[in-house]
Amino acid sequence: PRRLLTPEKREDDREDASIRPLALEDFTGQQAARNNLKVFIEAAKARGDALDHVLFVGPPGLGKTTLAQIIARELGVNFRSTSGPVIAKAGDLAAQLTNLEPRDVLFIDEIHRLNPAVEEILYPAMEDFQLDLIIGEGPAARSVKIDLARFTLVGATTRAGLLTTPLRDRFGIPVRLNFYTVEELETIVTRGARVLKIAMNESGAREIARRSRGTPRIAGRLLRRVRDFAIVEGAAEITRELAARTLTLLEVDDIGLDVMDRRYLDMVAVNFSGGPVGIETIAAALAEPRDAIEDIIEPYLLQQGFLQRTPRGRVLTAAAFRHLGLAPPTAAPS
Ligand code: ADP
Repeated sequence: PRRLLTPEKREDDREDASIRPLALEDFTGQQAARNNLKVFIEAAKARGDALDHVLFVGPPGLGKTTLAQIIARELGVNFRSTSGPVIAKAGDLAAQLTNLEPRDVLFIDEIHRLNPAVEEILYPAMEDFQLDLIIGEGPAARSVKIDLARFTLVGATTRAGLLTTPLRDRFGIPVRLNFYTVEELETIVTRGARVLKIAMNESGAREIARRSRGTPRIAGRLLRRVRDFAIVEGAAEITRELAARTLTLLEVDDIGLDVMDRRYLDMVAVNFSGGPVGIETIAAALAEPRDAIEDIIEPYLLQQGFLQRTPRGRVLTAAAFRHLGLAPPTAAPS
């Protein structure tokens, strides 16, 4: 694994399940999203109707799946889960939809990656709770309408702009998730340590939080790596010093940037004098897919104020140069 910090799911994230919050009450951060969801969930329950369709938008690892599960739990209904790339044929999605019970939650992760033929059958399903299917082929083909239970579709995507307009318009409740503050991540790390029965002091938790790139999934992962070091060293508890030393060894720097982030910054700083440089050029120079750069690397650098998007391309700020230990060019934005 090249990237410890990658916010995407990985095989060794199994222990995540044990520290996943199960109720809205236990979900830290995303206050605005939580408040809104709480009201909409209560209203749907009072009406005895399905919750309106929900679209979660935000970088990986910020809690979209977790919130979808919480919604189903709070509504007291079944949670069914799938993802855009997994649904190959319209029939696969039709099978999922016809199996739903009234008010159930169907979660579709990476919903922007649905193929167009599959997406097409979602429109009447979301709008009228109906399936329009073509059965058979050629002259024998006929169309049938099937009534579905009134259900809630919860979609997740990294960027709203990746969705087609007709799909995006069919979500009544769009919810944006933002990076977490260090304080929020500290709460999450502390809770995680308690669940996993890891001894850790306050400054140890803070150090892990600081280096978690604003992302709970990364916080959980760093916590487990530091715990492994603590076990091997026979340390009684996780301290700031142990956390800092471990994470530096793992090439996570003191503000949570990893090897890929620094490669990006270094490359733009050194090869392109801080920009402006186009995204395609950056993707080619890093030999990484453009999507991965835009969805995973750039959002955090933008949020940290290290990067600006301009019509002429990406530009590093003076803060980015300082973080790299380089002198900013006079043209660099502050
Ligand atoms: P996404 O679907 O956005 O990629 P997930 O919902 O899978 O993210 O969250 C990744 C992990 O981070 C989860 O396993 C969960 O343990 C943790 N997590 C996410 N959000 C929170 C939160 N607000 N509080 C505590 N843990 C969280």
